[in-house]
Amino acid sequence: MSTIADSLTAIRSTLPAEVELVAVSKFHPAEAIEEAYSAGQRIFGESRVQELSKKIPVLPDDIRWHFIGHLQTNKVRQLLTAGPIALIESIDSEKLLDAIDKEAMRLGITARVLMQVHVAAEETKFGFSPDEIIGYFSERRFENLRATHLCGIMGMATNTDDEARIRTDFETIASLRLDILDMAPDLRGFDIVSMGMSDDYHIAIESGSNLIRIGTAIFGERNY
Ligand SMILES: *Cc1c(COP(=O)(O)O)cnc(C)c1O
Repeated sequence: MSTIADSLTAIRSTLPAEVELVAVSKFHPAEAIEEAYSAGQRIFGESRVQELSKKIPVLPDDIRWHFIGHLQTNKVRQLLTAGPIALIESIDSEKLLDAIDKEAMRLGITARVLMQVHVAAEETKFGFSPDEIIGYFSERRFENLRATHLCGIMGMATNTDDEARIRTDFETIASLRLDILDMAPDLRGFDIVSMGMSDDYHIAIESGSNLIRIGTAIFGERNY
């Protein structure tokens, strides 16, 4: 059985230099995070506000926490006050984005976020549709934001064995970022393309990902 450190080393050895790795530690205990931290990992991803709030105070200060789960607007304050959140990857509605902006403004911080886009076949996945996200940028509604930096885009591929479909989904997500930049060339730092998980990150990287989110392949199966 390989350890967390071994798994991390194996994954890192395959990554191009421009690709950053988020170790998705949701449902795993602080001890597992410490093990990955000792092996040099600094970016961790969590999907529940309450779990993240418990982990931040007991783990090292220089961890960069990414929030990757569906966020209810009534949990925004709790998330932004839990500790420094390096990136909220899962902005799935304009209502949520505006709530985060308002709260960040109130706290005197800048929220860094990714727009989550939904291209997968499953209806259960959250996110803006391609049309919604194009509308948001073509109408320049981002100009309303006061305390939020839009850092790029996040998405997931259809959950399938069909590699061609996975590749098409990832290519759609990556090209949406370019479409957005065509419409709003003045957007600064809209650089991140977060896509790829344990089973599909190789395809994601080939399709233009520069941030991958890996849980199971590092920490093993989760006990929900
Ligand atoms: C849980 C989760 C992951 C990690 O998935 P694995 O298959 O365990 O690598 C990545 N991204 C998001 C948004 C997740 O919720």
